[in-house]
Amino acid sequence: MQNISVIGAGTMGNGIAHVFAQKGFTVNLIDTQAAQLEKAIKTITTNLDRQIAKGALTEADKNTTLQAITPHTDLAAGVAKADLIVEAATENVELKLNIFRQLDQLAPQDTILATNTSSISITRIASVTKRPQDVIGLHFMNPVPVMKLVEIINGYATSETVTKKMTALTEQLGKTPCVVNDYPGFIANRILMPMINEAIYSLYEGVAGVREIDTVMKLGMAHPMGPLQLTDFIGLDVCLYILRVLHDGFGNPKYAPCPLLVNMVTAGYLGAKSGEGFYTYTPGSKDLIVSPRFTS
Ligand code: NAD
Repeated sequence: MQNISVIGAGTMGNGIAHVFAQKGFTVNLIDTQAAQLEKAIKTITTNLDRQIAKGALTEADKNTTLQAITPHTDLAAGVAKADLIVEAATENVELKLNIFRQLDQLAPQDTILATNTSSISITRIASVTKRPQDVIGLHFMNPVPVMKLVEIINGYATSETVTKKMTALTEQLGKTPCVVNDYPGFIANRILMPMINEAIYSLYEGVAGVREIDTVMKLGMAHPMGPLQLTDFIGLDVCLYILRVLHDGFGNPKYAPCPLLVNMVTAGYLGAKSGEGFYTYTPGSKDLIVSPRFTS
């Protein structure tokens, strides 16, 4: 396996392209937006420079890595020679189903089709292709060059051979694979999102303040980041979306999103990316200031 195509050059796509290229694979990075491809190459360059500054990489390694990545806006050209395609486009069901319908037509017959989706059923994505046995979830974590875990998700029809190949490949990337089955939220989000929801409920019910909730989980459970800060980092809208996937998928009221989360998303308080969530964010500052809405 040598030729990897990555679809979507956003937060995850640029990281996935980076790690494959750095390990000697040939990478075709595809996005519908040329500006996103340009931005991705800049981000990868900055991240490689950071590795050089830490002494983890040489200037020559950086150049080889960058040379291994070819950007494309044309899907057909970008996947024509792919041994593996990792789809990391926007989290939207119809958009992903449409991409996989096209991949079924465009990709060589023996190509493995993977998706980095956080919450959409792998079985559903596979069902729009004529090769569901070759479709699998490869759930990288953010930031991809740093995080060790890859959750490998078997769809209902995924073949054992494909799972074995992906397990070996992720190990080759220096990551730790964990194979799980395709049920809502897989493992990572099935466990993380209820914890986040419970933290928001604790704030909503006045059990404790933002800083207290985060400090209990950081110092008490040795979590690197408190759950409310993590919600701001992931994006409140993304957390709400995944909680709804769990709620709809299991039909169990224990996954019902906290009304405070729903209100904040409706009002546009999405966390770090919008400038305010449970904390407020000022460009250029790393200070963690609790939002004035939660100090009184
Ligand atoms: P993003 O919004 O940063 O990037 C998505 C990219 O997809 C954009 O550049 C967009 O132009 C591109 N795109 C949209 N439609 C396309 C198409 N038809 N063809 C090619 N490119 C297209 O999103 P992201 O945060 O990188 O998330 C990508 C995927 O990774 C999602 O499925 C998400 O659930 C998953 N994921 C995200 C995270 C995270 O922390 N951000 C973590 C794990 C998994």
